[in-house]
Amino acid sequence: MGFEETPKKIAHIGIAVRDLEASIPFYTDLLGMTLEKMEEVESEQVKVAFIKIGESRIELLEPLSEKSAIHSFLEKKGEGIHHIALEVDNIDERLNDLQENGIRLINEQPKQGADNAQIAFLHPKSTNGVLFELCQHSNGKGI
Ligand code: ZN
Repeated sequence: MGFEETPKKIAHIGIAVRDLEASIPFYTDLLGMTLEKMEEVESEQVKVAFIKIGESRIELLEPLSEKSAIHSFLEKKGEGIHHIALEVDNIDERLNDLQENGIRLINEQPKQGADNAQIAFLHPKSTNGVLFELCQHSNGKGI
């Protein structure tokens, strides 16, 4: 029942934005944070920017098309916090364990996400209305 080892950290907090370029200066110029990288994730139809804060990141997400889940999120709720990502080892075992313990999964198998990570989302109906992403970087660090 459950894992004894805790997730390693909050890998990032995902924030849905309409315009990535226009959103970044608040973090970099005004808050003094560092833009680490920008990337397009074809499979998710999003463009993302990772902004470093300590051990964690802010992940800004802009939809690339209407097929993107971020597009529907913006339509329904407007800009704002979209998900919280937890850095884990053993993502496969964790997904199995969570499922066995009655947590609904959006992705039963990990898929390729931004920053070469293996990612999977848990269903917010099972987690107090919060969309959680599990994410595992092969280098063990995450950017
Ligand atoms: Zn994410």
